[in-house]
Amino acid sequence: MAEFEIIKKLTNILSINDKDVLIGFGDDCACVNVNGKKLLFTADIQVENRHFIKDKITPKDLGWKLVSVNVSDVVACGGVPRWGLISIAVPKNIDISFLEKVYEGINEAKNFYKCEIIGGNTSSANEIIFDLFLTGETEKFISRSNAKEGDLVFISGYTGLSRAGLEILLNNTNNLDNFELELIKYHTRPTARLDLQKKIQKYANSCIDISDGLVADLGHISKMSNKKIVLENIPISPILEKFSKKYSKDPLEYALYGGEDYQLAFTVSKENERYFKDCFKIGYVEKGRGIYLNDKPLKIKGFEHL
Ligand code: MG
Ligand code: MG
Repeated sequence: MAEFEIIKKLTNILSINDKDVLIGFGDDCACVNVNGKKLLFTADIQVENRHFIKDKITPKDLGWKLVSVNVSDVVACGGVPRWGLISIAVPKNIDISFLEKVYEGINEAKNFYKCEIIGGNTSSANEIIFDLFLTGETEKFISRSNAKEGDLVFISGYTGLSRAGLEILLNNTNNLDNFELELIKYHTRPTARLDLQKKIQKYANSCIDISDGLVADLGHISKMSNKKIVLENIPISPILEKFSKKYSKDPLEYALYGGEDYQLAFTVSKENERYFKDCFKIGYVEKGRGIYLNDKPLKIKGFEHL
């Protein structure tokens, strides 16, 4: 069964009967009304050998990444991160200095994003698991389901870099070029685009963060907004070009389908286009369904977590 079918089956069991729940399952964050304020809830897990391999990422970067991927979901809903709870499950014989370094990375990230980790839970497991539950606040919830006909589609930065970095890491190559070390950094130390939060909240009609891949994540916007998205212009980073030349790869494939970039993909009306000169305009929204590259329909595939 595909991941999304499993999630659907399970969440159907938990019907929500609370008028203060403004958004439940299915978006980057859930959103609740607390005395007139909109609070965001999100959680993201890092499982050893699934999301990370212990000797392929420094513990500090792992801590940084755990916070960043959660902040990214909060920003995708237009919010700022506030308070988090961390749950960890680790093998009984784990080296405590490894955990300390992970927490140093968490500390660095929470200071950078100006949020706090204020509690959590600890247990043991055969593999290392870190789960962060993060809350945020927003004045306006920006969802995946509000893309409008005529909207322009933007991304906040290049895509495909993280996947290229991961492949370099897994290939175990020595003597890496500088651009390869740079690509690895995009994978091990992504930065959530909190710098764009105010503009997203004010001017975006819909938004998602790119975790599964550009096409897969735009696929969520398209499906939930019931609109067609036409891509015309996919920017290719110069370092992804270099990677593609060195390893004879198609850079467009990486830009379209590579995951874990943690850039934002969002749609804005033509009037608000001018606020996003620092982002890439890649296409537009129209009536219909699916994701197209010019007139060619794209297969919506992405990273499967289960
Ligand atoms: Mg997300
Ligand atoms: Mg996420």
